[in-house]
Amino acid sequence: MTRSGIGYDLHRLAPGRKLIIGGVEVPFDKGPVGHSDGDVLAHALCDALLGAAGLGDIGTHFPDSDPQWKGVSSLLFLEQTRKFLDAKHFNIIHLDAIVILERPKLGPHFPAMRQALALSLGVSPDQISLKAKTNEGTGEIGRGEAIAAHTIATLES
Ligand SMILES: [Zn+2]
Repeated sequence: MTRSGIGYDLHRLAPGRKLIIGGVEVPFDKGPVGHSDGDVLAHALCDALLGAAGLGDIGTHFPDSDPQWKGVSSLLFLEQTRKFLDAKHFNIIHLDAIVILERPKLGPHFPAMRQALALSLGVSPDQISLKAKTNEGTGEIGRGEAIAAHTIATLES
């Protein structure tokens, strides 16, 4: 059986925070505010994977009230999510994602992000598609105040 799940995440951006996306630090003067490293791409991928497997959402498994997740790499959430999928005998077929951010350009960082995400999930980088968009200068993302990601995961069991 093939199943799909969607994921979405948004974080505010603030000075003095590292901009971590897909497990990779992108040089920039602002980064996401969050309990963990605020990695919108990793968080949205977690939610898509958990959704496809019918396993709830990231907040259920990795609550931001839990001190063990403070400041951790969100790649850990993906590693743990992969274990949940294994326990339910789900295989990851494909992941697709859009990261929405006004600046900086993400394209040059996609190969490293796909590599990092693939390693955490035990899949090939070929199974992960990443795309980037700006918000055309509109809204909080367009003003550089936030970053968001939309994702879809396809699993088989
Ligand atoms: Zn998040």
